[in-house]
Formats: sequence, structure tokens, C-alpha cells
Amino acid sequence: MSNSQKTIYNVNILGAGVSGLSTALALLEKGHYSVKIIATHLPSDLNIDYTSPWAGAHWRSYADIADIEQQKLDTATYNHFAHLAETDPKAGVMFLNGHDFWEVKPKNFEDPWFKSILKNYRHLSKEELPPGIEFGITYRTVSMNAPKYLAYLLEQVLARGGVIERGTVSSLKALAQIPHNTRISKSSKADIIVNCSGLGNRNLLGVHDHQMFPTRGQIVIVKVPDEIWPKAKQFTMERYAEGSAMGTGTITYVIPRDNGEIIFGGTMEHWN
Ligand SMILES: Cc1cc2nc3c(=O)[nH]c(=O)nc-3n(C[C@H](O)[C@H](O)[C@H](O)COP(=O)(O)OP(=O)(O)OC[C@H]3O[C@@H](n4cnc5c(N)ncnc54)[C@H](O)[C@@H]3O)c2cc1C
Repeated sequence: MSNSQKTIYNVNILGAGVSGLSTALALLEKGHYSVKIIATHLPSDLNIDYTSPWAGAHWRSYADIADIEQQKLDTATYNHFAHLAETDPKAGVMFLNGHDFWEVKPKNFEDPWFKSILKNYRHLSKEELPPGIEFGITYRTVSMNAPKYLAYLLEQVLARGGVIERGTVSSLKALAQIPHNTRISKSSKADIIVNCSGLGNRNLLGVHDHQMFPTRGQIVIVKVPDEIWPKAKQFTMERYAEGSAMGTGTITYVIPRDNGEIIFGGTMEHWN
């Protein structure tokens, strides 16, 4: 079947965070979907109910050594971001060296599963560890400038004929009833709906997912002086207090972004 004869499916997506925009772009790249995003908050908004612009963000995986499914997802994510870092500066993704520091070496430390997929994975030598740190690992990873990445995704979605509309819906039924109409499809009927509303799922009628909960994080964003930026941009790190395993417990993190800023974090307060 030629491209012009393909069936086009109309998709209404709820949410314009990293999940909604990535879903929209992935569908548009397939070539037989027309996409409309409906969201209360859009890229460049800053609001406590819109999580994506606040993310650090650097790639590291907390998948358990036995969780093959999550490892596959995390590998695909890494490969995708590594490709963007190599090919498209507009995406706001850059390579850097990840460091994980433990104030006290965990008992029976096991190397994380991603040891085999990331370049330059190794244990740090005693001489490379900062004061107060007993053990550390390093590997090649990527960081993303979250607000820039959201703007990039939006631009890609619009360039492929996607449509974005500010609005709040009360239920998934209401989402299905929003007239579709885009440049790609003149039909107003949505064939498919996709729910990427994040914490909004707690309040959506018919969903009311109260297993979802907010996790509050406090961060500081610092503009780095030009003279130290060439060195500062080479490292991202997480520091774990005694008794903390990777991804849990008391963590401090430092994440450079491609625009000369560094995110210092943070706090992680569940149900807050
Ligand atoms: C301080 C901090 C640091 C973080 N650091 C990292 C990190 O380093 N790495 C990482 O992977 N993650 C990090 N995260 C987590 C990450 O930010 C979130 O997991 C992610 O952004 C969630 O994206 P989302 O698209 O699912 O939701 P959101 O970005 O919250 O988007 C939800 C969308 O749904 C819309 N919506 C909701 N309800 C409705 C409704 N009823 N009608 C219309 N629209 C609606 C909203 O307006 C919004 O557009 C961090 C989070 C915080 C707070």
C-alpha cells in the first residue's frame, strides 16, 4: 500500500509533559497517525502540577539486576539520547562522565546491570575519590536540559503536523469527545486516546488513581562562570549517604545542562 492509501488513525493525547510529547512524536514518525495533544500546561509553563520542566536530568538506571524488561526500556532510552547527543544540539542533550559516590561502601556491592552497555564503566581509584567518600564508580552517560528538550519535542511534533491545544478535561470520555481536526486529518472523531496526564490521573473522573503520589524535589539552578564551565560540564554525580542503595535513601546530585547551568539537588519527599 502506498503512503497516500494508508489508513490514518486520529489520536487524542492527554498531557504535554515528556510522556505526552514523546508519545505524539513516536506516533507521527510511524506515519499513519494524526495527533492532537490536549493539556492544561504546555512547554515553557512552570507549575507545581507540571513535572517535566523540573527534571534534572541525567541518565542512570535503577532497574534491578533481575528486571530484564525495565533494563530493555532503559537501554532503548540511553541509545535514543546518545543518538540525540551525537546528532542534534537543539535537543539539549550532552555526553558527560557519570560518577556515583558512596560515603560508605555498600556491603556486598554488585556492579549495576548497565556496566555492560555503557562506555568506560569502572570503579574509581582511592585517589579519584573526594573527601568523605569510601567508594565510587564512573561511566559515560548523558544529561538533558529538560525545558530545552520539551521545546525541542514540541517543535518536532508541530513540524510533523501534530496539533497542541491548551485545555483541561474532566475524564477520558471527555478527551475522546474533543474534536480531532488536524492538518493531517479533517475528521473530528478520535479513534484512539492516550492518557499521559501524570499525576492528573489522581483527579480524572473514572480513573482516580490514588496509587499515584507526588514526590517533591527541591533543586537549585546555578549559572556557572565561563572560566570553569569547560571542566564543570564534564561530570554529573550522585552521592549516597551511609545505608543508601542506588536510587534510594539520601541522595545528593549535581547535573550540568548544556546551557552552562548546573542543577544541584536535592530532596526527595514522597507524598508531598
Ligand atoms: C525536582 C525533580 C527532579 C527530577 N529529576 C529527574 C531526573 O533526573 N530524571 C528523570 O527521569 N526524572 C526526573 N524527575 C521526574 C520526571 O520529571 C517525571 O517523572 C516526568 O517529568 C513525568 O512526565 P509526565 O509527562 O508523565 O508528566 P508531567 O510532566 O507532569 O505532565 C503531565 C501533563 O498532563 C497534563 N494534565 C494532567 N491532567 C490534566 C487534565 N485533567 N486535563 C488536561 N491536561 C492535564 C498537565 O497539564 C501536563 O501537561 C524529576 C522530578 C522532579 C520534581
